[in-house]
Amino acid sequence: MPFTCRLKMDSSAPKRARACKEETVFEGYLHDVTQMKTSGNNDDFFNCYLQTSRDKYRRCVVFDATKHGDYGMSAADRKPLKISSAGTIWCKFNPGQLDICIRRGSIKKVLKSLDFDYIEKPSIPNSVEESLVPESVARQRLEVEQQEEVEQQEVEQEEVEEEEEEVEQEGITAVREPVCGIHLAYQRQCSSCNEGQLAFNIKAINHRCEACGFYQKVGSNVKAATGTVWVNKGDVKLTLKLTSTVLMTYLSQNNLQGLLAGVQLVEEHFLAGVFEIKYNVNNEVVVVTTGNV
Ligand SMILES: [Zn+2]
Repeated sequence: MPFTCRLKMDSSAPKRARACKEETVFEGYLHDVTQMKTSGNNDDFFNCYLQTSRDKYRRCVVFDATKHGDYGMSAADRKPLKISSAGTIWCKFNPGQLDICIRRGSIKKVLKSLDFDYIEKPSIPNSVEESLVPESVARQRLEVEQQEEVEQQEVEQEEVEEEEEEVEQEGITAVREPVCGIHLAYQRQCSSCNEGQLAFNIKAINHRCEACGFYQKVGSNVKAATGTVWVNKGDVKLTLKLTSTVLMTYLSQNNLQGLLAGVQLVEEHFLAGVFEIKYNVNNEVVVVTTGNV
């Protein structure tokens, strides 16, 4: 994100994107909160879905970056919600469809109940929208550490023998083993430079970024999850540092956002499965998957 863009976003004057119409109240459950996006007009926004009945999921456009973390948590909580002072906006992708438009002044409240239950949103393959989901895990760069370099060669040789199909691509190392340890942490990241904040005080009003010095409202800092995964391959221990983008993308691509309700749930998910990682000579991870044996 360009620095100037963020400065604009955090100014007290709200930005107007495409005009929202009507003052309307919507009730339902939140699903599938995307990462932050920037429109052609340089407006910061994200998308999500509001399940407004048993089988209806309305697309939402949220023009308020400060709501991003909160909406993510609400989607994970699966609680019934009421969103007021919202509006509607013509969908960019489906002519004639009105999306829900949520702005700075919109208010989200938890309701006691609704007359329909939370139902997992079916995924819509091959829609225009899916192609707008940010980078896949495969394009993320991970830090792969090896305890001893000599041992890495052994891994590569073993993999060539055992999984020839997996290593057809030149210079790709594949490791497919159970996760033996994982440590995840939720943290806040600077909305300008994305650096994790170590001394973050949720009760403060403002916070100065420890990396870039950007002074911003506490709520503007982005909620993020980062972690480290250990995989044993014989005597070799691989340490994989998972960035927030990788973790969040992995969870959303596998429809596991519900696990974000607790760090431990995500950790248990990883511990229960086999972790497969493929990376190239520059330690750029090309595939990360988990699954059952
Ligand atoms: Zn910063």
